[in-house]
Amino acid sequence: MKVTCPNCGYKSGISSSKQMSYSVREIYCHCENPDCDAVFVVSQCFKHYTRPPKPVMEKAVVELVRCLSPQDKKELLAMITHPEQAKLL
Ligand SMILES: [Zn+2]
Repeated sequence: MKVTCPNCGYKSGISSSKQMSYSVREIYCHCENPDCDAVFVVSQCFKHYTRPPKPVMEKAVVELVRCLSPQDKKELLAMITHPEQAKLL
């Protein structure tokens, strides 16, 4: 991971980091530009998933199936057990 000095834009080294929570880490950095020599902290934080974790997806699928009518559940089961006979949407 590259960190850029917020003062001079030079590359900065990471001296240590501290996990603040599952989604936030503070990273202690030092600017490698000898004329700047700044020491600073940047935050690394979780923004969003591009692919949700499997347990989240599985729970969402279960909830969706629960919302289906009995007929739709029957059709879904048929599509799963006999995919070659399933109608294309
Ligand atoms: Zn700097």
